Amino acid sequence: MKSTKARILVVEDEPAIAETIQYALETDGFETVCVATGKPVLSLLEEQQIDLIVLDIGLPDISGVELCKELRKSDRVPVIFLTARKDEIDRVVGLEIGADDYVVKPFSPRELSARIRAVLRRVRKQPEPSPARGFRIDDSRRRITYCGAALDLSRYEYNLLKVLVLRPGHVFSRDQLMDLAWEVPESSMDRTVDAHIKNIRIKLKAVSPDIDPIVTHRGVGYSLREDI
Ligand code: CA
Repeated sequence: MKSTKARILVVEDEPAIAETIQYALETDGFETVCVATGKPVLSLLEEQQIDLIVLDIGLPDISGVELCKELRKSDRVPVIFLTARKDEIDRVVGLEIGADDYVVKPFSPRELSARIRAVLRRVRKQPEPSPARGFRIDDSRRRITYCGAALDLSRYEYNLLKVLVLRPGHVFSRDQLMDLAWEVPESSMDRTVDAHIKNIRIKLKAVSPDIDPIVTHRGVGYSLREDI
């Protein structure tokens, strides 16, 4: 029989904290899977149904923040960050990397458990983010279709357009776009984003010459029009 318990992946390198969390969550009726490094997380998500990740920011192999950004490229699994430093959280929230909540160490296991329940309730009510009208995203083929035509996009053009298309109306700064769409942020930030947006616009225009779905916000960044 398939278990109906929510399965929580705990990514924490300090054994004492990991054990405390595991014990508390299992006592509270969750199933847990624990790993001490970030590397196994992506493949674990492919192998198992994971309902939520409790992710320590300070991991030995990869920062939890980087890992979360990586996850967000393909997955909507909710993430609650664990951090020892409140100032890390300001950065995380500022970057909008898509964490659902955070808990600052030291925390009580009961508090963490309550946060997990709250996030799961919220997420279960929400539909999957749907792309802007006119666009279709096929992640497995890394393909975006616009007005029925498949766009021929480079790797970063695809990543960038996907970010915009999934949140129509939301204004992203160039830094945010760089952060969300690039595996390794490059140095010539602004111009790189601008150059790719320019190419994307040309490709969209080739499909539908009268509409420019991308809005430039001078001195800020870009958004995708909501009213197309
Ligand atoms: Ca740690």
